[in-house]
Amino acid sequence: MNPSAPKPRLFGDHFLRSLADPEQQLIEHLRGLCRSHFGPQAAEVARQDVFAWDTFRLLAREGIVATAFPEAYGGSDARQVLRVRIIEELARVCSTAASIVTGTDLSSRAIVAGASDAIKQQLVPKLCSGELQSAFALTEPGAGSDVRGLQTTMRRSGDGYVINGAKKFITRASTADWFVVVGRAEEDATNFIAVLMPRDAAGLDVSPEVGKLGWYGVPISSLRFDGVQVPASHRLGAEGEGFSLAQDALLRARIGHAAMALGRAIGAVEIAAAYATDRSTFGKPLGGHQGVQWMLADMLTQIESSRALITLTAEKYDRGDTDVAIFASMAKMQATDLCMKVVTDALQLTGGRGYLQDFPLERFFRDAKLNQIGEGASEVHKTVIGRDLVRRARNAERNPCLRDGSLVDY
Ligand SMILES: Cc1cc2nc3c(=O)[nH]c(=O)nc-3n(C[C@H](O)[C@H](O)[C@H](O)COP(=O)(O)OP(=O)(O)OC[C@H]3O[C@@H](n4cnc5c(N)ncnc54)[C@H](O)[C@@H]3O)c2cc1C
Repeated sequence: MNPSAPKPRLFGDHFLRSLADPEQQLIEHLRGLCRSHFGPQAAEVARQDVFAWDTFRLLAREGIVATAFPEAYGGSDARQVLRVRIIEELARVCSTAASIVTGTDLSSRAIVAGASDAIKQQLVPKLCSGELQSAFALTEPGAGSDVRGLQTTMRRSGDGYVINGAKKFITRASTADWFVVVGRAEEDATNFIAVLMPRDAAGLDVSPEVGKLGWYGVPISSLRFDGVQVPASHRLGAEGEGFSLAQDALLRARIGHAAMALGRAIGAVEIAAAYATDRSTFGKPLGGHQGVQWMLADMLTQIESSRALITLTAEKYDRGDTDVAIFASMAKMQATDLCMKVVTDALQLTGGRGYLQDFPLERFFRDAKLNQIGEGASEVHKTVIGRDLVRRARNAERNPCLRDGSLVDY
């Protein structure tokens, strides 16, 4: 065996086998970058909550950012089954790098899906190369989980819109050149509109960056719109399509959040297993205690289930299955809740060492929480999944063990 060859992974490569050769080569290349750059630099990136320019530029230079965009505009239009593996690999070592990839979906999907060809020709190649950045501005002080409660208004004026309102929690607002802003028509509150707003628009105020628990390297800010004028040519999609464009962006980003949580959980188990090998307690290696083996076994088994659900969801996305949104809710809720538990248990297994700042689990622990909140909190996804099940049960084939007719009487 070649001693310099990479050792086998604790988590198998079985999910890579369905990828085409060039896709597998991209993953191999990315793994090299994780070993040489993203992994070793992750702690330093997470030490400062400023935008991680080096990480972003490397991802752009290596064509990883471009995987989100169509080939016609300079991207490589990667399948979701490849994108989830890219995000998983990055999140295994660095949430910042992974969130730059998922954030690209969130912030630019509506541009790809709804902008005119002229705007796409102008912007998308530069979004691919990292010359430009966009941010996605949906959440408001009064509308987070209940996103239909948006209060930002867009009033028709001449050949364009006048926009008033506020947004909060906007990732990369401090570095974005363009904002995808979703609001509602002032004249008709049921009419949601999405527009592209340039950073230098008169009346747009971007707040200073706001401190947070984790996800360092991708700062957030609030926005205020005070009579901002945007030409109609900057509208994304038709009037009334703003909400569906936002949902389309959130769908891809939710699958990304699931993959990010999965990758972080994988990384946490790798770290805990290594500690259990190096550390001895009560006269034997930590990993020799059955209680520790059981904890690791639970983590491994649940992570592989999560991987399978995420892969299935990505396949559904690539096929355009109509039920992909429900699967994305299931994958996101399951993977992000699991990640929080796995990271907590992994930190427990590494004892006081895991609690120290120079050990990666402290960072994984802080980063894990946001995946359960952003792009729809777990409770909201649970509601969506349950509501859909109850609705479908009315017309679904009944279990053959049941007798015909209503089950209410006996
Ligand atoms: C670091 C960070 C980055 C973000 N980036 C962006 C961005 O780039 N663009 C953007 O538009 N937004 C962004 N967000 C906003 C994010 O999507 C919202 O925080 C999220 O959707 C939840 O909304 P909220 O915080 O207003 O929570 P709330 O709506 O106040 O809900 C609070 C909690 O109540 C519970 N809850 C809510 N509704 C229900 C229900 N029906 N049933 C049961 N429980 C419920 C959930 O536990 C939820 O976490 C970001 C947020 C953070 C923290």
